[in-house]
Amino acid sequence: MCGIFGYVSKTPRTAKETLESLRVLEYRGYDSWGVTVRSNKTFLVEKASGKIGSSIVTLPDSTISLGHTRWATHGGVTKENSHPHLSCDNSLSLVHNGIVENYQLLVKNLSKSHHFRSQTDTEVIIHMIEEEVGSHTLKDAVRKVFSKLEGLNAIAVGSGNGEIVVAKNGSPLVLGEGEDVFYLSSDATAILPHTKRVIFLDDGQLATLGKDGIKIFDLKSGNFIRKKLITLDWSVLDNDLGKYPHYLLKEIYEQPKVIRNVANTLVSEAKILATAVEKAKGTFLIGSGTASYACLAATYLFSKIDRHVNTSFASEFVYLEKFLTKKSLVIALSQSGETIDVVEPLNFAKKSGVRIASIVNALGSTIYRMGDIKILLGAGPELAVASTKAYTAKIAFLLLLTFTLANKVKDAQNLLFQAAGEIERILESSNLKKLKNIAKVLASKEHIYTIGRGVTYALALETAMKIKEVSYIHTEGFAGGELKHGTIALIDKGSPCIVFAPNDETYQAIISNATEIRSRGGLIIGIGPTKADVFDHWIEVKDIQEASLIPLVVPAQILGYYLALEKGYDPDKPRNLAKSVTVK
Ligand code: GLU
Repeated sequence: MCGIFGYVSKTPRTAKETLESLRVLEYRGYDSWGVTVRSNKTFLVEKASGKIGSSIVTLPDSTISLGHTRWATHGGVTKENSHPHLSCDNSLSLVHNGIVENYQLLVKNLSKSHHFRSQTDTEVIIHMIEEEVGSHTLKDAVRKVFSKLEGLNAIAVGSGNGEIVVAKNGSPLVLGEGEDVFYLSSDATAILPHTKRVIFLDDGQLATLGKDGIKIFDLKSGNFIRKKLITLDWSVLDNDLGKYPHYLLKEIYEQPKVIRNVANTLVSEAKILATAVEKAKGTFLIGSGTASYACLAATYLFSKIDRHVNTSFASEFVYLEKFLTKKSLVIALSQSGETIDVVEPLNFAKKSGVRIASIVNALGSTIYRMGDIKILLGAGPELAVASTKAYTAKIAFLLLLTFTLANKVKDAQNLLFQAAGEIERILESSNLKKLKNIAKVLASKEHIYTIGRGVTYALALETAMKIKEVSYIHTEGFAGGELKHGTIALIDKGSPCIVFAPNDETYQAIISNATEIRSRGGLIIGIGPTKADVFDHWIEVKDIQEASLIPLVVPAQILGYYLALEKGYDPDKPRNLAKSVTVK
């Protein structure tokens, strides 16, 4: 994963600017961070293990700076392994996003002649470039070295001569042009506070940033590529916590606004996609993590309108793609629009001429740009690592889509407006108090189970994911009918089970499943419109027909949030995770 940022400027700028930009990119990885600036033709570095927090940098102002937030893949989480990495003579600096799959072999060739200061796969790149710069320009040295790297990578190399060269194959890179200053970043949000004029670099491209501005080249041939700057029509994103103590809570509270926005603004997009689904011979929904559960929920929503769609984890879809034909439609869901496990199968689909629809939250992202049909969820920046509002926005759009196919757009809008109102009701303080008390009970448990049937089976999986990623309590989601086929062996006195019991065709059967668990001592937390005798605790969520799926997730999100607080964890930045997963 990792976040990369840098600038080349005609007049010196502060290193603080780089550190502040890294704060914006920290969602991409927060194992460690580092900043480098050029001073008298060599680079000075400050880096540290852990989150940026209240850290400051004391580096001098400079015309070149690079910065990095790391999500470690190779080499432990240590200060030495933090990027930027320098060449032996300190005249070159490097930040990297990706994995050099053949690094061990490459290191072998250089370990005698170069001094390695880290255990990363990254550092070998800068020593290889150092070997080449004597006889090549920096641009050609980077081209030569990049062609030897196996894997999906993006790099930025700073030179003591006042130039930065970037190259990309797989990981995202955006370039920005300001007044007398040129930027690079893993994501446009870090560039936007400075300029809205950007270029999204494509795979197989290299760019030089220097006194002549930004120049793009083909990595293989070295030929110049004419590429226009585009002006992003985005306002500077609201990264402010406002009255909330954490982004997770803020984003949970933003959901009613997000759902109404989907209902009000995405009707024509839903119609375009509905037409594509109608024309397609075979529709495949793919996503990773939370997005994959939105895909699974969609299969049930589609079945309600008698339409068959397929779904797969995006990372598994590469093994199923032989089913695709030129008449297939692949619908890819991703919050960040950069998830490599989604990008990879889309690359294959694109090459095979398969139609792609992208449903993403981040404008300009790789997956957004890959779509023949591009749908922007408009949920606004989601900064907590655990996804909440982007998930409900996806569900809201998928509901709008299936209702559009059934010629019931108005009904969908009405249900979505009701769902937004119901979320507001759930977030009232009396309910929060109740959820806080349940979290106190659950905080001491080692395992939590969650069950649902039909569309709430997908919700049980999402609930399990939400709770485990922020509270680190092992939580497992099941189809209500499945828990008894094995896992029920684990249920004993006090084993908590969250039961989704909506007012639909699944109600009787899920209550039976809850009763089976309670008969073995299980503690039942029921979520739904009706209080059943089997519930030890009940969280009311009013019935809104198919749209119930949206407010039903909210108690689970809040439970996860309170569990994280109970256990003393940071709900926004859970350990080992990063928001955007750009490595395989
Ligand atoms: N492989 C590099 C490291 O571990 C970069 C990791 C990444 O891009 O996530 O330092």
